[in-house]
Amino acid sequence: MQKITIAIDGYSSCGKSTLAKSLAHKLGYNYIDTGAMYRAVALYALRHDLFDENKNLNKEEMINVLPLIDVEFELNPTTHNSDVILNGENVEREIRTMEVSDLVSKVSAVKEVREKMVASQRQMGKKKAVVLDGRDIGTEVFPKAELKLFMIADPEVRAKRRQVEFSSKGQYFTIDEVEMSLLKRDMADISREESPLTQAEDAVVLDNSDLSKEEQLEFVLKLIADLHYISREEQSHH
Ligand code: C5P
Repeated sequence: MQKITIAIDGYSSCGKSTLAKSLAHKLGYNYIDTGAMYRAVALYALRHDLFDENKNLNKEEMINVLPLIDVEFELNPTTHNSDVILNGENVEREIRTMEVSDLVSKVSAVKEVREKMVASQRQMGKKKAVVLDGRDIGTEVFPKAELKLFMIADPEVRAKRRQVEFSSKGQYFTIDEVEMSLLKRDMADISREESPLTQAEDAVVLDNSDLSKEEQLEFVLKLIADLHYISREEQSHH
């Protein structure tokens, strides 16, 4: 069957990466978590004191140090997921904190940061058979992707999911704290000048507020089968 590129965009904590991972697994495709790349750059900025006491980013310095930042992925043999590697160090855990979540949009708004990440994403995805999730995949990174999804979900549902995810890693926040952080990040991602988060015209909207993981996977596999990129037998997710 023809190998395709699947672009998944949407707001924070809409379950993009969960769906992307299960799709990649089902189809035998690579998965690229583009948000993890921006988070790794934000972690670098945090560690090198590029934020002032008001959490403003020193943009000039950020641009200066960009050539020193190397972000790649490495397959984790235990989890079978791709972990993000920042200058040779596995930072998969360090990039998932509330601190990084609250700063990442300042880093991802910098044009030069985006140019570097997008170039790397296009390189990694050029052979197709890939699922990417992020904010600008269908609009900027791979505008010709054969399948584009735009995921949305009720903010309360999203906050609840993210709260559970945080607490499973020993980070405890109230639902209001989590919801506020998500909405603030969405606002920053929608309103930035460079490749803001928007729905591609040809994207299929998937509202997963009330859908299980299995139902979401089923929905997308059916879409792919309808487009004749997989056969009806392959569509079955069992
Ligand atoms: O997907 P995740 O929540 O890990 O993304 C973290 C942040 O990285 C987003 O809030 C956004 O600022 C940025 N991002 C982006 N473009 C992408 C993926 C993520 O600007 N393609």
